[in-house]
Amino acid sequence: PQADEVVLAASGLTKDFGGFRAVSSVELQVRRGTIHALIGPNGAGKTTCFNLLTKFLTPTAGTIRYNGRDITRMKPADVARLGLVRSFQISAVFPKLSVLENVRIALQRRKRGDSFDFWRSERVLRALDEEALALVEDVGLAAFARAPAVDLSYGRKRALEIATTLALEPDMLLLDEPMAGMGHEDIDRISALIRRASAGRTILMVEHNLSVVASLSDRITVLARGQVLAEGDYAAVSKDPRVIEAYIGA
Ligand code: ADP
Repeated sequence: PQADEVVLAASGLTKDFGGFRAVSSVELQVRRGTIHALIGPNGAGKTTCFNLLTKFLTPTAGTIRYNGRDITRMKPADVARLGLVRSFQISAVFPKLSVLENVRIALQRRKRGDSFDFWRSERVLRALDEEALALVEDVGLAAFARAPAVDLSYGRKRALEIATTLALEPDMLLLDEPMAGMGHEDIDRISALIRRASAGRTILMVEHNLSVVASLSDRITVLARGQVLAEGDYAAVSKDPRVIEAYIGA
């Protein structure tokens, strides 16, 4: 694969809600191995765009291609099977189960699709446990492996959600405001985790925290009023007068 290969591409992406055009002819190209951020003032259309790309909404017009394949009309579960996975897609972190058990269930899902297999041999279960523990360590939750998920702090719960997403072995990860509602310490933890998770995969995230965007992103697309306003690295877009005006005027 070429270094500048486009993994996810939206063309003419448009979404109307009744008579209101929330997303208008958006062109977006996410390149393999990059962390790409989608930013913009409130109401810019970020969430709508994100839901279109993850197939939770159907576009009014336009196409979405993933690895060259037209996924415009595909269902979320089917694109997930192709390796395009939205974090927090498994909104079900089972609160009473331990961190380790939650990750193990996610691993079982990867191996079995959506069905669970309770009839596994001890040996297979042990191998799964080892794999789950490695993932739990990866996301910095080793000390909490046996703790019920419900007892985790907010930031650690998000780390667990990322672990359960990584368990699905996505090629591309879509993150919806991974830092929402977090304090400094959690932001640092999740930033480090996203950077680690980006090794060997592509990440697209919607994120409000601009210092996080600045430190993590290779490329940024700025939306305003449903349209692409600017695109480039942080240095370029943060100097763009149209971007500054859109943020100040919002
Ligand atoms: P952002 O995430 O950038 O804040 P959104 O994508 O949430 O922006 O919203 C873009 C615009 O579309 C807003 O004006 C919002 O009110 C409108 N919008 C979003 N979802 C719907 C919906 N389901 N029905 C009607 N209008 C919507």
